[in-house]
Amino acid sequence: LSDIRHLVTEQTLAFLSLPEHRLLIDNEWVAARSGETFETINPATEKIVGKIAFADAFDVDAAVQAARRALDDGPWSRMRPAERQRLMLKLADLIEANAQTLAELESIDCGKSVGLARAVDMALVIEFFRYMAGWATKIEGTVTETSVPFAPGQQFMTYIRREPVGVVAAVVPWNFPLLVAAWKLGPALAAGCTVVLKPAEQTPLTALFLGRLVVEAGFPPGVVNIVTGDGPRTGAPLVQHTGINKVSFTGSTEVGKRIGHASVDNMTRFTLELGGKSPVIVLDDCDPTAAAQGAANAIFFNQGQVCCAGSRLYVHKKQFDNVVAEVARIADGMRLGSGLDAQAQVNPLVSKEQMRRVSDYIQTGLNQGAKRIAGGQALPDKGFYVRPTVLVDTANDHRVVREEIFGPVLVAMPYDDLDEVAARANDTPYGLGASIWSNDLSRVHKLIPKIKAGTVWVNSHSMLDATMPFGGYKQSGIGRDMGRSALDAYLETKSVWIAL
Ligand code: NAD
Repeated sequence: LSDIRHLVTEQTLAFLSLPEHRLLIDNEWVAARSGETFETINPATEKIVGKIAFADAFDVDAAVQAARRALDDGPWSRMRPAERQRLMLKLADLIEANAQTLAELESIDCGKSVGLARAVDMALVIEFFRYMAGWATKIEGTVTETSVPFAPGQQFMTYIRREPVGVVAAVVPWNFPLLVAAWKLGPALAAGCTVVLKPAEQTPLTALFLGRLVVEAGFPPGVVNIVTGDGPRTGAPLVQHTGINKVSFTGSTEVGKRIGHASVDNMTRFTLELGGKSPVIVLDDCDPTAAAQGAANAIFFNQGQVCCAGSRLYVHKKQFDNVVAEVARIADGMRLGSGLDAQAQVNPLVSKEQMRRVSDYIQTGLNQGAKRIAGGQALPDKGFYVRPTVLVDTANDHRVVREEIFGPVLVAMPYDDLDEVAARANDTPYGLGASIWSNDLSRVHKLIPKIKAGTVWVNSHSMLDATMPFGGYKQSGIGRDMGRSALDAYLETKSVWIAL
């Protein structure tokens, strides 16, 4: 830790100095039964920053049983909604009080900028818990006026209850580790569910720190359990466990499909937030400088490791050269550095594997005939960096145009007319986000319904708020995180008939 000691708070150092980070089961910190651990690495220094308990099926079963007990027998099930709300608000206050440490841990584990982790990730986490805490006291059923056609004389009192779906398995990725965990925990706790959370193996630290705050806030044992480990040995037994009532997954489309299949076998409810290849569509009336800055932010934020990153740029042919040259200028002017360096604008990717994957995609693009107009300069010796890269002269069937790269790589393409660009924007298996850059309201409003995506931003990109549902069309997923409707995925519906 000597290389980061002067850059982080005492509390962060104390947490990183723990000899081992254990599993949270029933509000106790326990080692994996096997005694196994894995290491988590700082992507900027390539050094180990934590030894983490490696949960297997045995530990997962213990966590699911703890969650089941808390749901069926524990004080949680008898707790008034107002008390659940109060606990969630307390948790939000504790996250706020510890936001700097959480942001530092996120930066050290994931590579991202500590400033952005605090201003974006942590700010959204805190607001989201407060927003969802409010729903805990506002879950309402319906009383219906019901009569039965084949029993005309019979009177009934009928009503519809909403009940917690049960024990939730929350499996989350490494790009926004705490934020995506909050998107699952918030509605689950508001609905009265209990949770087993599995963070990504690359970025377990903030979930584990959150576990401390859950205990400190006073949540009863078993309400939130945290198991750390990888997909095959920890995630798979969790989502396949017959004690799980609902799986809430965010991650790759490939793993999401597997989880969907396994869930159907058990009739476990599931929602999936998956990958994307989101288009940025610049109309001919745009201000080229503003559009270029917007397009650069849309792809380079969080090093492009954003599910809704604007990775395909379509610019009207009249503006193409201007806009794309400006995006390339911005890309090449961005300063590389660690997430703890306040001056750095591009931070390392999460892992060596991700760096290789993204670099291989760039090479594949070049091999298939693309031209690189930004990126490609030398990289620091240490750290998993990839330079912001802009590719032109691509074709619709090139892999860099079709596949999610999940790195700071933009493909830029010219178009002629709006129908054509709508068709090309939709020519992808994904449908998570899209942005349109124009001040021509009529054309913007005509284009919005044509775009097959869960979110359309106009003159902005990747804006998020607790009130706005977030999720995908097509292979970008099933269901929505955030917003009021997210709660529905954590509730069952019970129809009650009383013959009078
Ligand atoms: P991933 O699918 O490899 O892993 C995600 C999580 O699933 C990890 O915790 C992993 O351990 C676990 N996992 C892997 N295999 C599993 C299995 N067989 N059973 C159960 N769990 C398993 O994804 P990743 O590489 O961590 O994240 C990147 C992906 O996440 C990208 O595709 C990105 O677009 C997507 N993502 C989507 C959203 C969204 O809201 N739509 C948000 C963030 C990231």
